[in-house]
Amino acid sequence: MATMADLLTLDEALAQVLERVDPLPAETVAVEHASGRVLAEEVRAGVDLPSFRSSAMDGFAVRAKDTPGTLPVSFRIAAGRPAERALRAGEAMGISTGGVVPEGADAVVPIEDVVASANAITLAASVEDGANVRPVAGDVRAGEVVLTAGLALSPARLGALAAAGVTSIRCFRRPRVAVLSTGSELSRPGTSLEPGQIYESNSLMLASALTGAGAGVEQLEPVADDPAAHRAALERGLRADVLVSSGGVSVGSHDLVRSVGADLGVEEVFWRVAVKPGKPVAFGVRGRTLVFGLPGNPVSALVGFELFVRPAIRALAGHARPGPLFEQGLLAQPVRRIATRDQLVRARSGLDATETVLHPLRGQDSHMIVRAAAADALVLVPLGEGELPRGARVRYLRI
Ligand code: AMP
Ligand code: MG
Repeated sequence: MATMADLLTLDEALAQVLERVDPLPAETVAVEHASGRVLAEEVRAGVDLPSFRSSAMDGFAVRAKDTPGTLPVSFRIAAGRPAERALRAGEAMGISTGGVVPEGADAVVPIEDVVASANAITLAASVEDGANVRPVAGDVRAGEVVLTAGLALSPARLGALAAAGVTSIRCFRRPRVAVLSTGSELSRPGTSLEPGQIYESNSLMLASALTGAGAGVEQLEPVADDPAAHRAALERGLRADVLVSSGGVSVGSHDLVRSVGADLGVEEVFWRVAVKPGKPVAFGVRGRTLVFGLPGNPVSALVGFELFVRPAIRALAGHARPGPLFEQGLLAQPVRRIATRDQLVRARSGLDATETVLHPLRGQDSHMIVRAAAADALVLVPLGEGELPRGARVRYLRI
């Protein structure tokens, strides 16, 4: 058996995963299906934005040089419908926000700044040329770049595409990920538990995490610790871009994922990493398919997902920074280090005046998913001697 010294460190293991991941091919997609995806090509505006001189306020279109004074209101411009004629010297037209500023007008006076009678307005002060008129292409000009390649499509960016008249774009394909739970003790939630059985919880957890990470998920039926069942399920899962299994990667005689995977042509890149929880994690490849064997303990599976699977999914989806995306905070309590393994400690985050403060939770065993569910952070406690003191600056992952 390998000694601890043989185990890959977290950083080494992560590097070995990312080395084997390239973005998936690009495809053309409708913007309404592109939320969260990454642009494979830059996008240019289809129209000037604004495409006409538009009013920034509800008020009156005027000529600046006719102000101050009293001006007859000759017309009310409805949103979406330009005035039928140009503004003449000495008159005003009512206009709403986003209305087309008529030819001849060079400013809009906000409604709050006039005294209005039935069909005239009086302005006490003079108005500046251009006031409250949004110039044509003030945001972007038709043909100019709206978004560059490599950007992820956030809500604001999707809004920008729609506003600029863009309906389809080139994005990296969404990773397709198969999820498989293994273990003869697993029972489907909603059935009654026989002696020795537990409810199967990793599939739901991992599928939810994968969907959140932007993957398309195929949930496979959980399999018992039986080689034929493993073979059929793994075979099917290996058709995906990524296969994520849980359970069956430890040293027990019923731990079959790695051996059956090897029979099916999965080349193992690593097995076991110097991390707690999640040490028995396995990673391999078959052709272009990435194969992650996460340990079965729910917290170990969660940690393995955040450390290795999420970054791989992000890299496949074309994100420039695959992660893990650590943030910084301060420990609220001391934490004992482990000499040989990095730890990911479940914690609840809070804020003091300027910093995120991380409170480690009680109940850090890797089967304690209910305890872990109270956490919103995984604190990285680097391997070493002694303890990290209260107030120590640490890195953490948001979960
Ligand atoms: P294993 O990695 O297969 O040795 O499993 C380690 C522990 O995790 C055992 O207590 C299993 O019963 C439990 N476990 C394995 N798979 C799941 C699952 N899908 N949902 C909940 N617990 C699981
Ligand atoms: Mg098992």
